[in-house]
Amino acid sequence: METIIRERNLWPTTGLNAQCEGFKCELNRTDCCCRRLLFSQPDFTSQKSHLEEYITSRGHTCDFYPKFHCELNFIEQYWGAANFRYRTSQRTCDMDAMERNVLSCLDDVPLLQIQRYANRSARFISTYVQGLTGGEAAWANRQYHGHRTLPPSMILEVKEALRKA
Ligand SMILES: [Zn+2]
Repeated sequence: METIIRERNLWPTTGLNAQCEGFKCELNRTDCCCRRLLFSQPDFTSQKSHLEEYITSRGHTCDFYPKFHCELNFIEQYWGAANFRYRTSQRTCDMDAMERNVLSCLDDVPLLQIQRYANRSARFISTYVQGLTGGEAAWANRQYHGHRTLPPSMILEVKEALRKA
């Protein structure tokens, strides 16, 4: 780290520790330790992950879902349905049988059910985009589960209904 920082003429005459104790850097400081100094360099902050670089190099868009929001990712719901089938299926005694069982459970989830998961995620995205909070979005999703997205008039209805409740 010191070599890289010296190459950039950023090494202070007083020197720098490799990192702050317990990785607890002072808030808003970028020069407290080697680690923080390097992490705040533009070429480090703009570096994409290997996965993201690979995906975009193949001409695809790489978009990450926010952490802890599985309701936005219908694949999580599909995976949950396949996982349920796997847990309730007969036990297997070898790897080949287990692999066949996993594939069978994945194939067992009907396409219509997967499309419903996709619609559910689309509704959540739509409600978040229109300004509903997590609880409001969940309520709206139960109320209007027949719609792919919620038109703004329905968002107003949701806000009005939740205000009265
Ligand atoms: Zn630090």
